[in-house]
Amino acid sequence: MKIEKYSLGIGDRFGHQGEAQLKAIIRANAAGVAIVPVWNKSNREHSYIHSKPEDTRIEADAAVKALSFGGNYFVDADHINLSNVQGFITASDFFTLDVASKIGTVSSEEEISAFIISCKRYSGILNIPGIHEPFEVSDLLITTIAHKFLAAIGEAGRIYDFIKVQKGAENFVTEVSMDEVEVPQTPVELFFILKMIADQAIPVQTIAPKFTGRFNKGVNYVGDVAQFSREFEEDVLVIDYAVKEFGLPVNLKLSVHSGSDKFSIYPEISRIIKKYDKGIHVKTAGTTWLEEVIGLALAGGEGLGLAKHIYKEALTRQDELCAPYADVIDIRQEELPAATEVDNWSSEKFANTLRHIPGHPDYNPSFRQLIHVGYKIAAECGETYTDLLELHREIIGNCVGENLFDRHLKRLFGLD
Ligand SMILES: [Zn+2]
Repeated sequence: MKIEKYSLGIGDRFGHQGEAQLKAIIRANAAGVAIVPVWNKSNREHSYIHSKPEDTRIEADAAVKALSFGGNYFVDADHINLSNVQGFITASDFFTLDVASKIGTVSSEEEISAFIISCKRYSGILNIPGIHEPFEVSDLLITTIAHKFLAAIGEAGRIYDFIKVQKGAENFVTEVSMDEVEVPQTPVELFFILKMIADQAIPVQTIAPKFTGRFNKGVNYVGDVAQFSREFEEDVLVIDYAVKEFGLPVNLKLSVHSGSDKFSIYPEISRIIKKYDKGIHVKTAGTTWLEEVIGLALAGGEGLGLAKHIYKEALTRQDELCAPYADVIDIRQEELPAATEVDNWSSEKFANTLRHIPGHPDYNPSFRQLIHVGYKIAAECGETYTDLLELHREIIGNCVGENLFDRHLKRLFGLD
């Protein structure tokens, strides 16, 4: 099973926006960019919503059927590990093996020295075609990289084998992710990580390193765009070279996690993948949930009331809601409006505060990030929430579609 050149990870926490999401993909396809949808949901999201991997499969299949979508599509077991992969085996055909927590785990001295010996031909000056400055690869560098990543990639090998035994190697796409860490992986580290992946015989098709800068949930990129661009371009070239050197799948491409709303780096990503004619996978999990809240606010009445309830409740439960996302949000307390203030807001004021239009006078990234992590509150509202999603499906669907197509796909793929 092979994933196409361009793919978009679309998360849908409450499972109601599959069709609206797919419509955005179909619009992009009609505009000449072949993108395949990948419905992704992590174990954490499933546990908060009380949904199951099967629900994501049912939603994806139903959306594809309803819109007579003839293209390929996938269901991603996002950020799985050995302890939770079993529940995803039947429903998923894309698996994101998350080994970030194993980075730095101790490996045996035999494994370390075997890896160092296997890398001898790369020590000294390493020239990667297209990268102007060659990498200086000392034995110390290889040793350091081995200590840092060998155990993690060994774990990826075990997860891959576990899935392979149950599903058969041809029946799924494999991603390896290491993005949920503080320290970015450098291009030269990525090169040796890919060697380890090849040594483990993992047919990796997408790889999600931690890039430089902050990839906060649902808001713009925070960091040095020029530095990101340089490293991203080197990563693309490293992958191209590693594919040839190590015999990895030729369609191997980068996967950008927490990729929604990173508008300032989209032009760079777009430029670089076009320059080298390479593929990309971008995951955009929570941005759709935010559009549900925007749509409810715009609907007014009970919808606006529930949107306000979600914010006010989140405001009082910040510690609990933010803790699991501490590394990927930056909320400024002084930017959060008081509950009494929000009570007086109109539909437009609420929607404009939440909607991500950079430079809009009402747009408030702290407000947006708090609601981003507040989906647990909507889940607690149960049918009160989902009934309103049904009632206002049209207005919400328009928000979801506009967000994915106009704000994301257009910028990512340079569409007009
Ligand atoms: Zn991720």
